[in-house]
Amino acid sequence: MIKNTDYQDLNTVAEEIINGRKLTDDNLRELLALTEEEYIQKLHHVARKVRDHFFGNRVFLYSFVYFSTYCKNNCAFCYYNRCNNIRRYRLNLEQIRNIARAVKKENVHMVDLTMGEDPYFHNEPERFIEVVRTVKEETGLPIMISPGVMDDRILSRLHRNGADFLALYQETHDRALFRKLRAGQSFDKRNHAREFARNNGYCIEDGILTGVGNDIESTIISLRGMEKGQPDMVRVMTFVPQEGTPFEGMTRGSSLSELKIISVLRLMFPNKLIPASLDLEGIDGMVHRLNAGANVVTSIISSDSSLEGVVNYDRELEKRDRDSKSVIKRLRTMGMEPASQAEFNRIIEKQQVALLRIPVVTL
Ligand code: SF4
Repeated sequence: MIKNTDYQDLNTVAEEIINGRKLTDDNLRELLALTEEEYIQKLHHVARKVRDHFFGNRVFLYSFVYFSTYCKNNCAFCYYNRCNNIRRYRLNLEQIRNIARAVKKENVHMVDLTMGEDPYFHNEPERFIEVVRTVKEETGLPIMISPGVMDDRILSRLHRNGADFLALYQETHDRALFRKLRAGQSFDKRNHAREFARNNGYCIEDGILTGVGNDIESTIISLRGMEKGQPDMVRVMTFVPQEGTPFEGMTRGSSLSELKIISVLRLMFPNKLIPASLDLEGIDGMVHRLNAGANVVTSIISSDSSLEGVVNYDRELEKRDRDSKSVIKRLRTMGMEPASQAEFNRIIEKQQVALLRIPVVTL
């Protein structure tokens, strides 16, 4: 659908996608197998056309607050897994409140509150509810929570206290690969938490890793798995080997696969949110990801922050360059602009309106 198509016909492919064409598994195989630069640029061209149809030159910005790096789990790919002997931190409520006040001054549309599965919060969820309530009060912004797997009752309470979005990445929908990545964790419970959240007022985000032993067929399983969950936001991130983890010795792949998958996601989820994370390659990497069809910039951290990212390309760097001001400046050189808060709020409200059509479980 891409290789032997000239640019005029590529625009027709984009229009077909906008009008509801669905990609077949053979389409996905063809796109994921592309290696030549010329063809990959064609794929990005179609993805940008589709994105621009739905979002114009408007981009959404999310601030990232990693407030606890403690975790009870042992994910083989993750720097923060419980077995890794690293320095960790857990912010107290006043520290979080101060960060929320600073975030309010940044030009962001949503605050992402992330933690590992920290027993301090998971065993006493009231503490996490208080964090959400505080950040909501201080910022008045939509709140995304990324707390790992929480049970239905707690998710409901978090929603009532200000959580709008649940980010919970499956990493892979290929069960065999999941067992290697998230050893000892339940594939089904993770899926269930997203499904419950989606049916009870949240917007949800799912995400996959690439470059972690997944071939094309495994990637297709993951893409179809994400599709089934009807997420509002879909993410792909390149696996980066982390010091002190079981996968430390694996080879780091290029970002080529991630960029291709971002474009494929745009064709599969034409009007959904797709992030360009700053966490892997900073602002230069953001540009490539937006050019592949993304429309959200995530992992924005103020320039004087000492908080962690997830992959943290800048862990060793003295100066961080992923604050909202630097991001917006670069967006404008690309002819893009931050969207208004009202545009973002409409996306969240649309999900809530859709929910009125299905029964809600009250816990
Ligand atoms: S990916 Fe999340 S759940 Fe897994 S070890 Fe890292 S912080 Fe914990």
